[in-house]
Amino acid sequence: MVVTRFAPSPTGYLHIGGLRTALFSYLWAKKNGGKFVLRIEDTDKARNSQEATQAILEAFEWLGLKHDGDITYQSQRDDIYAKYIQQLLDEGKAYRCYMSKEELTQIRETQMANKERTKYNGKYRDFKGTVEGVEPVIRIKAPLSGEIIVRDGVKGDVSFQSEDILDDFVIARADGTPTYNFVVAVDDHLMGINEVIRGDDHLSNTPKQIVVYEALGFDLPKFYHVPMIHNSAGKKLSKRDGATDVMAYKEMGYTPAALLNFLVRLGWSYSDQEIFSMDEMMELFDPKDINKSASIYNTEKLDWLNAHYLKNTPNTTLAQFLEEYDLVLASHDKKEILLDELKERAKTLKEMAALVKEIIHTPNSYDAKAVKKAFKEGFVDILNAFASKVESCQELHLPNDYHHLMQEVVDELEIGFGKIGQPLRVALLGKLSGPGLDSVMAIIGREETLLRIHNAISANS
Ligand code: GLU
Repeated sequence: MVVTRFAPSPTGYLHIGGLRTALFSYLWAKKNGGKFVLRIEDTDKARNSQEATQAILEAFEWLGLKHDGDITYQSQRDDIYAKYIQQLLDEGKAYRCYMSKEELTQIRETQMANKERTKYNGKYRDFKGTVEGVEPVIRIKAPLSGEIIVRDGVKGDVSFQSEDILDDFVIARADGTPTYNFVVAVDDHLMGINEVIRGDDHLSNTPKQIVVYEALGFDLPKFYHVPMIHNSAGKKLSKRDGATDVMAYKEMGYTPAALLNFLVRLGWSYSDQEIFSMDEMMELFDPKDINKSASIYNTEKLDWLNAHYLKNTPNTTLAQFLEEYDLVLASHDKKEILLDELKERAKTLKEMAALVKEIIHTPNSYDAKAVKKAFKEGFVDILNAFASKVESCQELHLPNDYHHLMQEVVDELEIGFGKIGQPLRVALLGKLSGPGLDSVMAIIGREETLLRIHNAISANS
């Protein structure tokens, strides 16, 4: 059974790079009928926060990514790590190193002065005694020559020369706390994770983790290191480009479906298909198709996808989404006309919410330029002519009903459509842009239409 994981360090919010690897791991597990587990890597007590863990869980909840089983917290597993450290000590695969900080610094400085790679010199590798008054760190015996090959599902075989990248690295600090690469390897094994999909910023950690796996006699998982996301200038994505909190995408008005679709296409493709439902993603995703080069973040693409999903979202769901913007449309009797009209126009839910408000709230001011352009000589007569038609007609429901009345005014006064359209638009919406007027009137209804026309006449004549 395929078991994948997402293993965030809760040092801040969940950003989209992290979410993308979580999504890839989730899809791959689901495609294979496997499990996707969540491990919170909260060993760095100074930098971790409970809020950050909550933020990650909140983002998962919003996006509908469900992890299997209980969450594993590394901070609760000290006993387990201690047991494996002891095992390595007992087997002579790890040892206590009593080197003082000063000596270590001295060695480093000499190596730097000689333009050599800085590494531990192995002084205590075969030391059998103890040194009074020094709390030792524990180092693992790493292979000091030969090569370590990471058999990567995205990058192919990546070979590292041990002497270039390894030394006997620390697996437990002087206070007994285990180090990052050690606990990752132990946990991935104990949690039964056999496919690790993560950012390629971790590739250089993998040889160290392989050293731990091998020392403990664990089977290696399959690794997939996913290239980074770049901005349009080809640089690592920064906050300014959009590497923000996943929940900020919710605030900006993106839907979960659009964001997930956007993310799956950042670094993965399936022929030239752009739109993927969750079911399709689960069916088609395969990490072997992850691109070898960095992917480019593109906001227009996200907007395009979001507009697509908005158009295709049922109105009841849209109304639920809009509740986030303090809009209760459930009881609006023209909800269907309103949302049908706006889902064709808005790129984001935020934009849609703003458009809804523009329509359903009576304007309390009029855009000066629009007034100048639309309220020209004769506009009062035209608006009055239209208003009296509306007054005399009790049964007005659909956009077409209003359209007919506009048409009648145009015919009777022998004017162009613009002559009524422009002043009516400014009267109804306070400005010259916005959705189709016939829809607007059908949405706000007969009484409100009349009220807005009368308000505009008295305010502008
Ligand atoms: N905790 C690491 C991070 O947040 C991920 C570790 C891993 O995926 O192996 O970057």
